[in-house]
Amino acid sequence: MSDCLFCGIANHEIPSEIVYEDDKICVYKDIQPQAPVHVLMIPKKHIASLDDTTDEDQELLGYMMCKVKDIVKLMGITDGYRVVSNNGDDAQQTVKHLHLHILGKRKFTWPPG
Ligand code: AMP
Ligand code: ZN
Repeated sequence: MSDCLFCGIANHEIPSEIVYEDDKICVYKDIQPQAPVHVLMIPKKHIASLDDTTDEDQELLGYMMCKVKDIVKLMGITDGYRVVSNNGDDAQQTVKHLHLHILGKRKFTWPPG
């Protein structure tokens, strides 16, 4: 999608600190990290949020979830981590391209804010 920030990052049109990518996903450092490790995993396909997924996306979403552990290992996280996906206004989703926040290397509290 031409005016999407995260599509721009996935297409290498907008600079970012990419830590991993393949034909399906891109993972890069969050510009405002909320933990010592804070990366965003996005599908290269533009999907605005979980609300916009279809049955065709099942394999892609499963692929993303199974890739999380590899990214966690790559980033040197050893003692647990948090995966967050903000969807819609109440969750304060600011970028309308589906993404997983992967956060680690600190203790997290529950419930989240
Ligand atoms: P959300 O609020 O869940 O939609 O998350 C959007 C995230 O994207 C925030 O944590 C931002 O800090 C992050 N972000 C915004 N612009 C960029 C960028 N250019 N590069 C990396 N991360 C970004
Ligand atoms: Zn996009």
